[in-house]
Parts: sequence; C-alpha cells; structure tokens
Amino acid sequence: MAGEVVGGLQVPPATLGARLRADAAALMVAVPELRHAEALRGLFALVERCLRLTAAARVVAEREAAQRYDLAEYEAGLARLCAGEPIAYVLGEQPFRGRSYRVSADVLVPRPDTETLVEAALERLESTGAPEVLDLGTGSGCVAIEIALDRPAATVTGVDLCGEALAVACGNARRLGAGNIRWQRSDWYAALGGCRFHLIVSNPPYVAEGDPHLPALAREPRGALVSGPDGLADLRRIVAGAPAHLRSGGWLCVEHGGEQGDAVRTLFLAQGLAEVRTFRDAGGRDRVCAGRWISPGADTTPALP
Ligand code: GLN
Repeated sequence: MAGEVVGGLQVPPATLGARLRADAAALMVAVPELRHAEALRGLFALVERCLRLTAAARVVAEREAAQRYDLAEYEAGLARLCAGEPIAYVLGEQPFRGRSYRVSADVLVPRPDTETLVEAALERLESTGAPEVLDLGTGSGCVAIEIALDRPAATVTGVDLCGEALAVACGNARRLGAGNIRWQRSDWYAALGGCRFHLIVSNPPYVAEGDPHLPALAREPRGALVSGPDGLADLRRIVAGAPAHLRSGGWLCVEHGGEQGDAVRTLFLAQGLAEVRTFRDAGGRDRVCAGRWISPGADTTPALP
C-alpha cells in the first residue's frame, strides 16, 4: 500500500472515510449548531455528488485512500458549508416527501415539518372532486406541487411575492411533472381579485423578529422567515383574508411555530372559522392549524316552495 514515510515508519494513507469524519468534526467547529449526524450526512451527500457515487459506492470508496480521488469540487462545497451555507443550497436540492426539490437562496429550504401541512391539506380535500387550491407564499413550490401531484384533478394556484422564488417553483413543477399549477406573483391575496378556493394552504413566515434561532437561519430569505415582533403578522393577514377567498365549506390550513398553536387557533376562531383544530409535527409540537369557512349567507336548508 502506498503511504507516507514519517520518521522512518510507513504510515498508511488516510482513507476517504477518515477524511470525511475529520471534515465533519471541522464543520461542527465552524457551524456549532450542526449536529454530528447532520454534518456527516451532509458530507456524504456532498462527496457522493462531487465524485458521482451512489451511496453504496461511497461506502466502498470510504475504505480507499483519499488521495485516489479528485476532491477539489468537494473541498469547494465543504468551504461553503463551513461558511454557514445550508447543505441544500450547496447541493442545490432538498428532498421533501420523497421527491427532490431544486432550491436556491431565494427560497426557504423545505422542512420535514411542512409534510404535516401537506398531509393535513390533502386530508381536507378528500371529499372534493376537482378542488381549486391556493398556496400562499409558495417558495420552492413544494406544498403546491405535492398537492397537485397527489390530486391531478385539482387546479392549484401558487402565489409568492418574490419573482425569483416563482421561477424556482415553476422549474420544480416542470421537472416533477405537475401541470395543474399556475403561478402568480402576489402580496398574499392582493392580485387574486375575488377568486374563491376550496382550500387555502400556506407555510408563511412565522418567526418573531427577536427569535434567538434566527442567526442560524441567516442564509435563508428573511422575508420567508420573519413576521413582525411576535411572528404572527403574516398569519393575521392570511387568516383575515380567508373568508373573502374561500368557498363556503372550504378550508384554511396554515403552518405555524411550535409555540403558536393557541394564538393561531384564537385567530381562526375570531375570524369565524369552524372545526378549528391543530395538528402536531413528527416531533410532537403544534405545527398546523386548520379551520373551515361556512359562509353565513350559504343557506343549506331547502328553499321554501
Ligand atoms: N420552520 C422554520 C424554522 O423555524 C420556519 C419556517 C417559516 O417561517 N415558515 O426553521
């Protein structure tokens, strides 16, 4: 085995596996909020991408000498990670509900928490044949696209204030084969006129301005994360506008912070929404609120003769 001669001793060359573990340790020093498993998983994904290896081939390659590989591209990615960029931006993609979404720094990285939002939304659509769905603040498009792919008869409108985000969402829809979505630039409901939907879904910004976790999220678009002093400024606007944009019997389904369950239920009830309930994420935290708009004008009793 080729190796370095140190002090007259033949030292076996460091394996790629040892190199990855040493880099994971260095990455955790540079980005203290990263857990070890996340750091290592990120580097595995990076090296697989850069060396064009499957996960299985990477496991085999880990036993080989690191110097056998051209690691220049990997090292450039590692430097970006050490500077605090999320792995999703370095790789340019993030898995969500088993599909891969392209992401750029213009959009929030899809979170596993948001799968709870998609599940709750899909459940609310079960009894509607060809639903009209609105996704407010679509970002990468992951929520709109998951709903559109699960319900091909649905017509989905994905709205974002940011044109660059809409370009990312539109590209994801094309790549993933979701043809039943139209994209529209809008400040929440502003450009939607009097359109009404069977379901309005949203993962809006909901982090409070002074939240201590914000520095760790500094690479993601602030406009997709932060919402006033209590994190509820955008949720208030979304809830307030829902009655004017829901069909009678339609649902509003929003994601919120783990501590905002009570506050968001209160907003829904104050707006006259019915059947209000909270869904918890996989970590057991309040994450999604759903409520139904029954229009006071909608008379369900049969007309008198
Ligand atoms: N769940 C995200 C976080 O706290 C915030 C996403 C959002 O504001 N919509 O990291």
